[in-house]
Amino acid sequence: MSLPCPYCQSRDTVLLESPQHLVINSNLPSAQNNVMSPLALATLGISVSKSLNIPPIAGALVGVLIGGIWMLMTEDEVQKSSHPVYTRHYYCNDCDRDFSPSLRN
Ligand SMILES: [Zn+2]
Repeated sequence: MSLPCPYCQSRDTVLLESPQHLVINSNLPSAQNNVMSPLALATLGISVSKSLNIPPIAGALVGVLIGGIWMLMTEDEVQKSSHPVYTRHYYCNDCDRDFSPSLRN
């Protein structure tokens, strides 16, 4: 399926799509967030601090802190990797111009 070129009306156009692995990558961090969530890390911190004989609240705070930083980092990652998924455009072989499907009227 191809769209006619909006510049020269040629049907000799190619659809250029973003690599599909970007979509899969953007889904991965959300699965990791469940494991690395502040709550899960706080629980882990409490059990670690108990075995190290330090106040459990200290372990919980460290866990929440690490979990929060981790979520901020993975959120950035999601935004970066999910953005190119929407860059989908056509290339015209006749006039060597590329155009977005949304430009079509
Ligand atoms: Zn064209």
